[in-house]
Amino acid sequence: MSAAPPIARPMPELEGELAPFIAAAKEHRLMVQRCTGCGALRFPPREICSRCLSSSAEWTNVSGRGEIFSFNVMHQVYHPAFAREVPYAVIVVKLAEGPKITSNLLDCPIDRINIGMPVEVVFEQISDAVTLPKFRVRAQS
Ligand SMILES: [Zn+2]
Repeated sequence: MSAAPPIARPMPELEGELAPFIAAAKEHRLMVQRCTGCGALRFPPREICSRCLSSSAEWTNVSGRGEIFSFNVMHQVYHPAFAREVPYAVIVVKLAEGPKITSNLLDCPIDRINIGMPVEVVFEQISDAVTLPKFRVRAQS
C-alpha cells in the first residue's frame, strides 16, 4: 500500500493587490505599502490611507526586522494540509518600520515564544511560484 498523496496547501493569489508583495518575497525582499500622500506605511494593502484618506500608494522595501506583537498556537487542524504541522505558532510581527504582519515563527519551540521577542524575516519557498516571508528569532544586539 502506498501513502495517500499529500494534500495541497492553500496558496495566496498571485494576482491582485498582493501581487507586488508576492513578487518581492520571491526575490527575498519584504515590502509594505506606503501612502504617497502622507508617507504612512501599511500592511496589508488597502485602497485608502486611514491617516490622510489618499488613494495613492506605492510599495517600499522594509528591513524585515521587528518583534513579536502577538501570537497564537494552533492545535486544531483547520486544513488537512497542515495536519502534520500542529501545534504551530501564528505570530503577528510589529515591523521596525511600524506595520504589523501575520506569519509563522520557524525554528523556535512553542514554549519559548514571548511577546516582544526580536525576530527577522526569512523566506520559505512553498512552490515554484510562491515564496512566503516567515520569521525566526533574532539575537539581540
Ligand atoms: Zn496617507
